Amino acid sequence: MLPVIALVGRPNVGKSTLFNRLTRTRDALVADQPGLTRDRQYGIGKMGDRPYVVVDTGGLSGEEGGVDQLMEKQVQAAIAEADHILFLLDARAGCTPADQVIAGQLRRTGKPIHVVVNKSESLDGDVAGADFFSLGLGEPLPISAAHGRGVRSLINELLQVL
Ligand code: GDP
Ligand code: MG
Repeated sequence: MLPVIALVGRPNVGKSTLFNRLTRTRDALVADQPGLTRDRQYGIGKMGDRPYVVVDTGGLSGEEGGVDQLMEKQVQAAIAEADHILFLLDARAGCTPADQVIAGQLRRTGKPIHVVVNKSESLDGDVAGADFFSLGLGEPLPISAAHGRGVRSLINELLQVL
């Protein structure tokens, strides 16, 4: 069984962009419109000779009641089958109330979670991460999915614990 890594977070934080980079495909739908990828999307990534499965998901809105229930189910299903969760956040937006709600949902899963702060290419890594310590889910890892910065060290870190 290959280790399964689920990408979870609000719409538009860059999950599909990271999926494409990890799997070196363009299969996930990357668009400016929030929430366009509604279904789970699977891909295979490889680090050295170690393959892993990546699951892209539609975003969790973090709003009680106001969510697309079907998308919510898909995200929960993806989380259930994951060995590891990458919780993606937007460095430019900072830590939002919706992010705090999602953090609470993820914490209840009991699964290992990495806090990944995307869109940090124009920020110092420490500055990008600082806002997200308050999620209480460990040290934030700054990356830029669009530019590739930090992605290799993120995967190296993951493969040590998978
Ligand atoms: P998703 O809804 O979480 O899947 O987000 P997408 O992958 O569709 O990306 C949403 C938007 O953020 C797109 O316009 C991407 O080009 C942009 N984006 C993704 N990653 C980065 C990044 O590292 N830096 C910047 N500046 N923009 C990014
Ligand atoms: Mg997407």
